[in-house]
Amino acid sequence: RAKATRRGSHVIFESAIRQELENRLTLESELALAADRGEFELFYQPQVRLVDGSLVGAEALIRWRHPVRGYVSPGEFMPVVNTSALSDRIGNWVMETACRQARAWELSGNSVRVAINLSPSQLDSGDLAHSVAALLEATGLTPSLLELEVTEDILLHDERRVLDMFKRIQQLGVRVLFDDFGTGYASLSYLKKFPLDGLKIDRSFVLDLLTDSDDAAIVGSTIGLSKQLGLTVVAEGIENRATADFLVSMGCEEGQGYFFGRPMPVEAFEQQFQATGYDAVSAA
Ligand code: C2E
Ligand code: MG
Ligand code: MG
Ligand code: MG
Repeated sequence: RAKATRRGSHVIFESAIRQELENRLTLESELALAADRGEFELFYQPQVRLVDGSLVGAEALIRWRHPVRGYVSPGEFMPVVNTSALSDRIGNWVMETACRQARAWELSGNSVRVAINLSPSQLDSGDLAHSVAALLEATGLTPSLLELEVTEDILLHDERRVLDMFKRIQQLGVRVLFDDFGTGYASLSYLKKFPLDGLKIDRSFVLDLLTDSDDAAIVGSTIGLSKQLGLTVVAEGIENRATADFLVSMGCEEGQGYFFGRPMPVEAFEQQFQATGYDAVSAA
């Protein structure tokens, strides 16, 4: 009986794996079609100076405008993109679209620094520093208006190659930040080695900041560490004023979160910030 059960569960296990593989392949081909049809879109979330809520930048966040399902969040498809052949194609589309947008804002007289998320797989093929340089050249964008967000996981890649590549990116005048800081594999020694302009404190430490003393300790130490190292520190996931005030009291200068503004389509972003010439964010 035990044997039969074991064999039975083995069969169920196998078919679950097959099902998952099929789902993945279906999603992959849907995503390739979506790329052909131009169904991807970038939303922009305001990044602000916490003391007065003034705009300092915008993070570009990808959405899939699905003909039936509406806007699909990156959490539902980027893991597949990042582990498929689409990674380069979509990564390049994001970089190019964001740079063109940043350049359009620059030309309009209301410059906004734009932050782009890179996936580790984008570092595998070719020379990212070269692509970034070519893109700056092609668009005419001022390099300091571009910021790249990378997770600590890129350090699992060929370390010397990655360090060299990011040194050259930074030499272009483009800013580089560690995203989701504190959730990855980086040891503190990388903060010394890696050409870095700042850290983004992951929202998992910020959401319960007011009630969880462990989170408060982690956030406080990260802010202190950043300052000692001369790095900018940006807090993610600020959902209310009390959290923003607490972060200010701990010395955090910049942040983003639903309290200041959700990620929004470019037209909405412009309506909220462009028209006012970037006065304080209304919520602040
Ligand atoms: P991330 O880079 O850490 O982006 C921040 C995420 O937190 C965004 O989710 C944003 O909508 C969400 N967020 C912002 N403020 C708040 C808040 O106050 N409360 C809460 N609960 N959440 C907040 P989103 O847009 O769903 O993106 C999720 C992740 O997908 C991003 O995390 C990033 O890792 C990845 N991603 C998004 N766009 C791209 C892209 O163009 N390329 C790559 N490689 N990854 C991307
Ligand atoms: Mg990010
Ligand atoms: Mg993040
Ligand atoms: Mg995150």
